[in-house]
Order: sequence, then structure tokens, then C-alpha cells
Amino acid sequence: MAAAASGGGAGDGDRADAQENVPTYEWEDKNTKAFHVAAFGRLWREKLDPALYCYQDTEEDAEHAQLARELELSEETMEELRVICSPDSLTGGDVRTDVVPHDSSLKTVRLRKRKQDYKDSLRRDFPAKQDVFASELENLAIGRRPMDPELLVPEGEIILTVNVLYPVIFEAFKFCRHHMTLQVMGSQKLSELRDAICCVSDLQVYGEFSSTPDMAPEFISKDLYKSAFFFFEGVFYDDMRYPECTAISKSTIEWAKSHDFPTYRSAKMEETTFNDLVVKIGYPYLYCHQGDCEHVVIITDIRLAHRDDCLDKNLYPLLIYKHRMLTRKCSVCNLYISRWLTTDDHLAPMDPCLFCDMCFRTLHYDKEGNKLGHFLAYPYVDPGAFN
Ligand SMILES: [Zn+2]
Ligand SMILES: [Zn+2]
Repeated sequence: MAAAASGGGAGDGDRADAQENVPTYEWEDKNTKAFHVAAFGRLWREKLDPALYCYQDTEEDAEHAQLARELELSEETMEELRVICSPDSLTGGDVRTDVVPHDSSLKTVRLRKRKQDYKDSLRRDFPAKQDVFASELENLAIGRRPMDPELLVPEGEIILTVNVLYPVIFEAFKFCRHHMTLQVMGSQKLSELRDAICCVSDLQVYGEFSSTPDMAPEFISKDLYKSAFFFFEGVFYDDMRYPECTAISKSTIEWAKSHDFPTYRSAKMEETTFNDLVVKIGYPYLYCHQGDCEHVVIITDIRLAHRDDCLDKNLYPLLIYKHRMLTRKCSVCNLYISRWLTTDDHLAPMDPCLFCDMCFRTLHYDKEGNKLGHFLAYPYVDPGAFN
């Protein structure tokens, strides 16, 4: 990487390194200028007191010890004070003030109960579903530490937050850009992020199977078409892990060459870590897979790992937010998630039409499994099935 090559020297070299690799705004409140991730992490670790990013919970203890010295208090008195002054002792134990008793003799309490019951009857759960799910995800990971100390995220590790937007090819997402948010470690390979991105186009099964519905193959398009790339700052990072992979960025690079565009380079996704990248924070980049499924990828944050983060290496890339999609139910029973899509179907109320497996087979085949009438049937994977 260019920035890495420029770093490393002493004196002037270091100053240049600091100038180049400390992110500054390119466009105010939009995105930073490009900088080298690892060099930035190194500068940060040089400047910061290691106590700020180490995982030992010493800060508070040290503070208390100093206070005890200043007030000339014994350790026991300090501990007693700590318990008495703790915010937990302010709540008055298990007494819950939000639960109003229904059998009180006090008129005011009865009135309050009536009002509370009325408010409860108005409450609808739907809008908050996304938030509940997001906080569930967050709570699962906060402060999590692995059993095996080998798997602990190293102190001073870079954590990047990446938003992956849903592709433009879905008409439904034209006006709202739903996304998933993942956290990755600087030392992770780009291919690890690729494997963590769940996109429904990876899960499709291609083909028409109306004559042989049992023959619909189990394998999904991710197993068939493994090529993909990320695009960051003029470099295409191709996934070349498997022999079937082809560098799908090649045609773009050659086209750019022949059309007087800046020259793009290509590298391998599985050989590049996030630390190796030169990126802009807040700038839209690209992830492309399955030929034309294009996702805008935005790195929204870069920081050092903190003791309250999820510290289990195995859980990274860590999903911290995912937009939940509506599931599309079978158009016959309106109960189960659709598994088949039919077109040109005289038995269906609309064209195309979605069916669950049971309704599809019951409606379209006789007891011996013979096809009834003319229609075309394609396996359907519902995006909402992976919420
Ligand atoms: Zn996709
Ligand atoms: Zn059904």
C-alpha cells in the first residue's frame, strides 16, 4: 500500500505518516480523506496511554484508592462508603414504582391504575420491533469474553464498523436504504466480511422445476457462483479462494483502461486484511457478488477495541444491526413463508404467484405427482426468512 510504504522512517517520515494517516474531513460531516488503517492504529497506540485501551478494569479501583488516601480513610470504610453511595442503593431494593397495585383503598392510586391500564391498552408493539431486535443483538455481544484466553481480541486492536446496504436491484428498496451493520477487526481478511454478509441473492436456486419439483437442487447460487469483489479506493479485491472463482473485476479494469479512466488495480480479497486498506471513513464503496448484486459498503467508524466490546475473536465479524424484512406469505394459506414462485399459471390468482411448498404441491399435482395444467415453477427464497 502506498501509505504503508511512505511510513516507517524516523523524524520527517513519522511526521509525514502522522499527516497522511490521521483522518481529516474531505467533506465536512460526510467523509474523511483516505488514510492507511494500520498506520492510523499504530499512531493511535503511540499517542494513547495503554491504560486507556487495556482490558483490566483498573481505572475505577485506582480512583477509589486515591480518594481513600486523600480522605485518609481505611479500606473498610471506603468499601462501606462505596456500597452506601452506589446508585443501586438509591432504588430502594426490589420496590417497583411502575407497578401500581389494583386493590388500593386510596382513590389517587386507583385513578392512577385506571390511567395506566388505559395507556397499556393503546400500546402497539410493531414500531419498536426493529429497536428491540437491535438492542437484543447488542446485549448479546456487550462485554463478552471468550473462555479460551487465546481467543481474546488483542489489546489495541482496530475495530471498524461497516454498513452494508441492500442492493439497488430490489425495487422495494429504491427510496429507503436498509442495511446491516457489522463490526470487523483490523486484522481480519476482507473475505471474512464477505462470508458474513447475508444476501438473499446468494441463496437463490436457479432453474425451472415445474415438471420435477423434487429435483430442485439443494445447492444455492453461492455454491455455484463464488466470484465476488470489494472495491476500495481504486483497488478491486477479488475473491479467488476457490478454483471456480474468476476475477470478475477484470472486465471493468480493462474497460476503464480503454476509456481513458484512471487505472484501477486488483488484489486478492483473501490475502488482504482491513489493516492493509487505504480507505475513507463515511465514503461509499462497493461489494459486488452474483454478477450484478451490488451493495454499497460504508465504513462508518474506526476505533480501538474497548473492554466493553465483544472480546471474543470468534464472534467477529459481529453483526450489530440488521434490518428486518417483511416475509411474503403463501398466497393460498397466507400462513407459511413462500417457497415457490409460479408464472403463466392458470390455477393461480395472479402472475407471478407465490406458494408455500404444501399448497404448491397440493394445487399443482395429482396424487401420483403428475403436473396439472400448464405453469412454470421456480424455487423462491424469501428475504424475510433470514431475519
Ligand atoms: Zn447481494
Ligand atoms: Zn400455503
